[in-house]
Amino acid sequence: MGSAKLKKIMADDKAHLFQNYGDRMPVCFVRGEDSCLFDQDNRKYIDFFSGIAVSSLGHRNRALSKALHRQVDSVLHTSNWYYNREQIEAAALLTAASFPGKTLFVNSGTEANEAAIKLARRYGLSQGKNKYRIISFTNSFHGRTYGGMSATAQKKIHDGFGPLLPGFTYLPFNDTKAFAKEMKKGRDICAVMIELIQGEGGIQIAEQDFVKEIFHLCGKNAVLTIVDEVQTGVGRTGVMFAYQHYGVVPDILTMAKGLGGGVPVGAIHAKNFLPEFFPRGVHGTTFGGNHLACAAVAAVLRQMAAKSFLRNTRAASAFILGELARMKKQFGFIKDVRGMGLHIGIELDRPGTPLVVRALEKGLVINCTADTVIRIMPPLNIPPTIAKAGMKILEGIFLEEKQQ
Ligand SMILES: *Cc1c(COP(=O)(O)O)cnc(C)c1O
Repeated sequence: MGSAKLKKIMADDKAHLFQNYGDRMPVCFVRGEDSCLFDQDNRKYIDFFSGIAVSSLGHRNRALSKALHRQVDSVLHTSNWYYNREQIEAAALLTAASFPGKTLFVNSGTEANEAAIKLARRYGLSQGKNKYRIISFTNSFHGRTYGGMSATAQKKIHDGFGPLLPGFTYLPFNDTKAFAKEMKKGRDICAVMIELIQGEGGIQIAEQDFVKEIFHLCGKNAVLTIVDEVQTGVGRTGVMFAYQHYGVVPDILTMAKGLGGGVPVGAIHAKNFLPEFFPRGVHGTTFGGNHLACAAVAAVLRQMAAKSFLRNTRAASAFILGELARMKKQFGFIKDVRGMGLHIGIELDRPGTPLVVRALEKGLVINCTADTVIRIMPPLNIPPTIAKAGMKILEGIFLEEKQQ
């Protein structure tokens, strides 16, 4: 693999960029169209990854593109010193998509979690001396800034970064007993932070009873629930937010990835009693919620609000999960298939990266997380024919793997 054009791009990357992403996949996408991408040599790929669940409307979505063009031709940025109609509209749409509350816009997932952590601490410390501890769960991923990283219960994310932010306790995911035990002795706990489906952790789904018990005990003890929906949010699991599968409502919801359909933006949405703990001047960001970002958010949320949108997402999900259930029977190296909506993991008994590379060679973009879990996260509006074509390529890869 690798044309002369690609080889030059790869060499230039090494010459000019930090190599913190290691060896990237050997491709440079230059153009997209709906659920497809085109590389440096104009070769076509089916996108089953959406740039880590970001391109929720696929590529070059007409309405999103139009909204962005209109905004580019009006004003890009003025800062939070001034009122901003796009922010207001985006927040109102977010409330309609989630629960009554207020929104604070930021620029990324880790920044959303950072804001949630800071808000939870200010709330907690107003309720009691030393009420600042935050519970999170093994294998979670909450971001790379010091707060988000400290909340992330994965040693490999912490390695080499010296003292983390104090005041975090890691408990085993899906262990209701351990959680109840910790809460009993935890007068100093101000919040619990959880992903309902751990994305980077390998598409691990929180059990209903576990989540119910967390919300029950948090409610009883004035402990805030922070649900990190940076990956699962904004339609990814077939409903607007994954918490809606559980019959609970978080105090603080964090989101980013799919929120702007590819434009970098994050947000926290919190119940109405919380914004007062961020009074004037205690938290902020220069770029947060700028006109361009919020025009994107509004365009994404408007499109998803149409009833048919998530219905199509769920139909695509049913098709893909059905195909995978069949393949699981056929291929012994598939240990498990799990997920909700278009947030799907295929756990293998072996490393997944070689299969990801072979899929790319055959024109399918997939990803591997937690070493052995193939992750499938197509655009939420993927047309049935493209989903079908993608699954056919995937089955071909599995067949090859079986014959090896
Ligand atoms: C990606 C992710 C983050 C971090 O978001 P960034 O935009 O990369 O900072 C936080 N939490 C979860 C669940 C994520 O998947």
